[in-house]
Amino acid sequence: MRIACAGGGPAGLYLAVLAAIRSGGRDEVVVLERNEPGRTHGFAVTFGEDLLDDAFRNDPAGGAALRRAARLWSAQEIRVGDHRPAHVGGKYGYSIARVELLDVLARRAEQLGVRIEYGRAVESREEVDADVVVAADGIGSRLRGARAEHFGTTITDGANRYVWLGADRDSDTFVWDFQRTDAGWMWIHLYPSSNGLSTCIAECEPGTWTALGLDAMSGPEAITLIESVFGRTLGGCRIVEPPGGLDAQPWLRFREVRNRTWRDGELVLAGDAAHTTHFGIGSGTVLAMQDSMALADALYGTDGAAGRDVVDLRDGNGRGAALAAYDARRRAQVGPVQDAAHRNMQWFEQAGRQLERADDPVDFAWSLADRRGDMGRIHYQLHRATQVPALRQVRRGLTTARRVRRAVLREASGRSRGPQD
Ligand SMILES: Cc1cc2nc3c(=O)[nH]c(=O)nc-3n(C[C@H](O)[C@H](O)[C@H](O)COP(=O)(O)OP(=O)(O)OC[C@H]3O[C@@H](n4cnc5c(N)ncnc54)[C@H](O)[C@@H]3O)c2cc1C
Repeated sequence: MRIACAGGGPAGLYLAVLAAIRSGGRDEVVVLERNEPGRTHGFAVTFGEDLLDDAFRNDPAGGAALRRAARLWSAQEIRVGDHRPAHVGGKYGYSIARVELLDVLARRAEQLGVRIEYGRAVESREEVDADVVVAADGIGSRLRGARAEHFGTTITDGANRYVWLGADRDSDTFVWDFQRTDAGWMWIHLYPSSNGLSTCIAECEPGTWTALGLDAMSGPEAITLIESVFGRTLGGCRIVEPPGGLDAQPWLRFREVRNRTWRDGELVLAGDAAHTTHFGIGSGTVLAMQDSMALADALYGTDGAAGRDVVDLRDGNGRGAALAAYDARRRAQVGPVQDAAHRNMQWFEQAGRQLERADDPVDFAWSLADRRGDMGRIHYQLHRATQVPALRQVRRGLTTARRVRRAVLREASGRSRGPQD
């Protein structure tokens, strides 16, 4: 079978890795990426233990490479104005610069015999000669766009404006900092990365954005403003422009993409081409890689046995059945996550109003921590207890012990399932 992935982001590269492993090298796998190697947008993305567990289960060597390249952050703080920071207890995660993540995945793919054609923009399905084409060409997917009616694509813009920047700050703490300006509230999502830089996403409501004049400001002017509003948290660190510099209008609105189906014959959507989730829950990359796992499962079976086809993939009907199963199962799994991400986006769209009413930063921090609305009273009590330094230390110790145990178990299970390279 010949598989072509249009787009060499996390979804396309990881599907290529898994197809090469699961087919035992029998299938021909190619990734067509419009950019040159090492060129991408954005800064770092965060992820949790679930992705590492999944990555070790699917490809122990690749999982280990991902873990080595990622940065652990071990605390989360929420700052409001000049109040003392509130702490989110037991919270930790990993982050990795996008450029490094793509490098890890591309190296692993090439090691397994995948051909990556850089500088190759795919404009239509017809120009790709393959049995299965994976449209992993991101949020603005050309392949999806050409068949938008078939896919039932809906694209909804969020209200807030954001800009994805970096900061030359090295820290183990993920910080949300909410500051009042003359024109309303503005906040940053500031988290460490694997390459010594932090990611710094600045966000505000549209009224604040225009009243601050950000709609007419150049990128460097906007950076100066952000540095001055968040000076205390940045502590003298500088804001860094994205690779390639800032566009004339760098402020964006989050675009929520949904599709009624992810399959059109032997073309399937994966990653942001299929669905997007607001960056406030930090899950788009994770979902993109999990799409690839689900697609590999549908094509090759879930037991991970290399070369064991569950359907006859030489036959168009067999491939069609596998892709239909992927479409139905994975879409059903992602739907609730998109709903939660939507609630999270709405929370940020109401943040200014909440901040005006907030008389206790610890309660505001709780509202942020529970923005998906799935935590109970006991978590609230724990959140309050976490504000006490000694109790926070105890909680952090317990979390660290659980994290280390989980890492040991997954690495041991990866070792027992085969060579690491
Ligand atoms: C501000 C912000 C912060 C985020 N933070 C997080 C986070 O913390 N955690 C997280 O999990 N996710 C995060 N995300 C989401 C994450 O970046 C995406 O969900 C993820 O990159 C999706 O992976 P993908 O492979 O589907 O698409 P992409 O990463 O967009 O990759 C698509 C690839 O296709 C290529 N391409 C596009 N068109 C063509 C074409 N016509 N032909 C060939 N190649 C093409 C592109 O060059 C690109 O390399 C964030 C997103 C934003 C905007």
